[in-house]
Amino acid sequence: MPMQKRVYIETYGCQMNEHDTERILRLLESSNYLETKDAQEADFILINTCSVREKPEHKVYSALGRYKWLKEKRGAIIGVAGCVAQQEGNKLLNRVPYLDMVIGTHAIPMLPQLLQKIEFFGQRICETGFDPEGNYLKTILPQKPPVVGSIRLDKVNLSTHQPEGLGLLEVHPEPGLSTPASKAGLRAAERVKSYVTIMQGCDHFCSYCIVPYVRGREQSRPSREIIEEVRHLAEMGVKEIFLLGQNVNSYGKGLEEEINFPKLLRRINEIEGLQRIRFTTSHPKDLSEELIQAFSKLPKLCEHIHLPFQSGSDKILKAMHRGYTKDSYLEKIDRLKEVCPFIAVTSDVIVGFPGEEEKDFEETLDLIRKVRFDDLFSFKYSPRKGTRADQFTDKVEEKVKQDRLSILQEIQKGITLQKNQELEGRVEEVLVEGLSKQSEKDVTGRTRSNKIVNFKGDVNLVGKLVPVRITNAYPHSLRGEIIPAQDLSICNLRSVIPRKA
Ligand code: SAM
Ligand code: SF4
Repeated sequence: MPMQKRVYIETYGCQMNEHDTERILRLLESSNYLETKDAQEADFILINTCSVREKPEHKVYSALGRYKWLKEKRGAIIGVAGCVAQQEGNKLLNRVPYLDMVIGTHAIPMLPQLLQKIEFFGQRICETGFDPEGNYLKTILPQKPPVVGSIRLDKVNLSTHQPEGLGLLEVHPEPGLSTPASKAGLRAAERVKSYVTIMQGCDHFCSYCIVPYVRGREQSRPSREIIEEVRHLAEMGVKEIFLLGQNVNSYGKGLEEEINFPKLLRRINEIEGLQRIRFTTSHPKDLSEELIQAFSKLPKLCEHIHLPFQSGSDKILKAMHRGYTKDSYLEKIDRLKEVCPFIAVTSDVIVGFPGEEEKDFEETLDLIRKVRFDDLFSFKYSPRKGTRADQFTDKVEEKVKQDRLSILQEIQKGITLQKNQELEGRVEEVLVEGLSKQSEKDVTGRTRSNKIVNFKGDVNLVGKLVPVRITNAYPHSLRGEIIPAQDLSICNLRSVIPRKA
């Protein structure tokens, strides 16, 4: 029996990247690698990068510097994955002599084979081709680590078949990946809620955004694969599924089957054992009436939408190439609230985009006050090399950007707190995700509107849906108390209801 090996992954960025890390960990389990949270005991150290906003290259080089001694002392394999790997490619290998592997956003399924190449042949690898067939999106189901005999090199698949013009190795389905697995195959964080990628890449080319360049063009996964994965997770006890894509609203484009996102939601809603469905991200331009209706028709679809607006100024929205106006955005919000009065709305906004004047910024603040978002992720515009906006000359000064960001965040802070306070005294259905980090007597979970609630309880509640009366609202969370069984008749668990008089 070969020795169990350890992998340590440092992840930067959004849920997509977090989920890529989960997929990598699932995949590596079949290659006898178990996750460790301690880099010092790792045989393989991977830095999973994001380049959407920050100065990511600096972070990567400083992380690589931190792990150099582990290469020297223990011979650990060191790799970089994700957007920066995709962007920098061979440049990274050339600059960092002890780096073994650079693996782009489409190459994840090849990781076990690439690792074997490094382990057995000492090769240094750069794999950053795009895969138009979408093989990289294939299901990687959680599984029990298999019992592995001694690895025989002649059995190891080191196919050198290169699909034309791609520089990608042939991707073979991973053995055993489609067999039902025990709960042991799921990492603790995934046992109550799991992420499922339904599509990758983006065709929108917003003028500020690097995603289409580093994640490639939009590709949807066949619905059969998604349903199989969700069913499998539900059978393992997962209660909530978070569907991921850069623009889930255009799901289905390019697939042979006739399907769109609302239809996919309807099919997932029928999966037995599953209790909740969430998704992100929705592009306002493609938010259809059919999807809005889904919020009232599908009982498992949670009352929360993340609908980034980016700016409230029509001039800036046009320069961003977003494809909607302030008014059309507000109309969609009105429609969502008509169909689903308790819906929570969160969003993303960018301040200081090139050409943003004071009056444009005022339009943004006006939109924020009108919608009253439950929460808002706000960013200073950050130029990305290779995007169209990087060529725009009317850049906004850093100090102005910072001032606008502070003003906006202060306004939103007040709104978020008010929105949380509106829930005081109400009963909410909470899915318990785990023990609270603050107190061992508390558990933590989320309402259907995606708000964090802490309340007294023990480990037996984890994974359960419980009615909780909200007692206190804070800026980032809520405090509550579980409703005793005899009071349950007053609760309509589908929605937030006023306290009984
Ligand atoms: N696909 C999603 C959409 O269109 O709404 C967003 C994906 S992007 C990874 C997440 C957020 O990062 C965006 O909504 C935007 O607010 C922000 N973002 C992207 N590029 C940015 C840039 N160059 N500077 C500042 N923020 C940026
Ligand atoms: Fe980026 Fe725009 Fe695509 Fe979102 S829709 S990923 S912001 S290009």
